[in-house]
Amino acid sequence: YFIPPEQLTESEAVVTGDDAHHIANVMRARTGDTIIISNGDNREVLAKLGHISKDRVVAAVVEPLPMLAEPAIRVTIAQSLPKGDKLETVIQKGTEIGAVRFLPFVSERTVVQYDAKKESKRLERWHKIAKEAAEQAHRNRIPAVEPPCSWKQLLQSAREADKAFFCYEKEEGTMLKQAALQAIAERGGTAGMNVMLIVGPEGGFTEREAAEAEAAGCVCVKLGRRILRTETAGMVGLTCLLYEAGEMG
Ligand code: SAM
Repeated sequence: YFIPPEQLTESEAVVTGDDAHHIANVMRARTGDTIIISNGDNREVLAKLGHISKDRVVAAVVEPLPMLAEPAIRVTIAQSLPKGDKLETVIQKGTEIGAVRFLPFVSERTVVQYDAKKESKRLERWHKIAKEAAEQAHRNRIPAVEPPCSWKQLLQSAREADKAFFCYEKEEGTMLKQAALQAIAERGGTAGMNVMLIVGPEGGFTEREAAEAEAAGCVCVKLGRRILRTETAGMVGLTCLLYEAGEMG
């Protein structure tokens, strides 16, 4: 279970809210059972349950646990806002596979409107999906979900990454695999490497966007000879990157 950092001290973990309900009523845990608790960032422990009620569970810290589930390579999925609830699928599956951050953005052919004032509820929901997917996948950290940004802000974030791959359906030459292997070799390994995968909306990217992305230092790549749906492309790219980085398979 991921709990707020202030609820995990040296000796004790306090679980509240839905997670307490889950422990008490869904898992039907008993005093003396052990659970794994993480502060969602840099500390994970084995803890023994003491007091259990449906809205508050207290557990004694038994021992620290090594944090082995996080990939050495840190992949951000920058996803052009898709229609409906497809971004929820991207966050859920991307978290299971191993992305560390999701950055939705608005591009020329983005169809949905995003109104930051009205949509804080949606952002909250995206955070909840990331947390639950991280728990189910036994991740050590909860991936970050950023509020949607503009195309200009996206290009700035791409410049700040160690490498940004622009998934472009019209790219003829470079495959993600070869570009990824080259980037890893140039950097001398994957430890702490920040990589961004940029995925377009249902209608794809415009040529102007591809040119601007290249000018910002992104590498245009293709993900194979088939055109993938927007919610599939990031998952395929992420899996390919983690595979080439020796994180799966
Ligand atoms: N019309 C479909 C849909 O509604 O989802 C396909 C959309 S595809 C054009 C959306 C994005 O996925 C593209 O802009 C690109 O970023 C990525 N993509 C899909 N297939 C790709 C491929 N073979 N190579 C590189 N990127 C791809």
